Amino acid sequence: MATKRNTKQKKAIEENLVASTAHPTAEELFMVVREYLPSVSLGTVYRNLEEMVRNGRAQKIPSLDGPARYDGRVMPHYHVRCVECGKLDDLPMKMDPSMVEEARALSRYRIDSCVVEFRGVCEACMQRKEGSGEVRRRTA
Ligand SMILES: [Zn+2]
Ligand SMILES: [Zn+2]
Repeated sequence: MATKRNTKQKKAIEENLVASTAHPTAEELFMVVREYLPSVSLGTVYRNLEEMVRNGRAQKIPSLDGPARYDGRVMPHYHVRCVECGKLDDLPMKMDPSMVEEARALSRYRIDSCVVEFRGVCEACMQRKEGSGEVRRRTA
């Protein structure tokens, strides 16, 4: 049932996802939208995000050990994830389409997509660790 309120919430969810570069989880986006639409529920945010993914207007980025993140940019692009805090950033690096071609040539699968995710420690976490003396300088 598409009520006026639903349409307004849906629009707010979409706009906030597209405007964000933080790849928010459903819960993070819920916190943002709730600031000015207090009647919105986490379930509504989640349902609208899933609908955007189904319609090709958003990407869902699963995580091995946490909630999935959502991305309003649907053009294929790489991501880098912080293993300390879970932050996920875009990596403006050229995609290599030959990877999918090679996978097609080498496997008996129908290859549909390829997910490459870079992992590391973000700047803020590195600074935090250095400050606490947790990081030892690597030799060679
Ligand atoms: Zn981090
Ligand atoms: Zn992204």
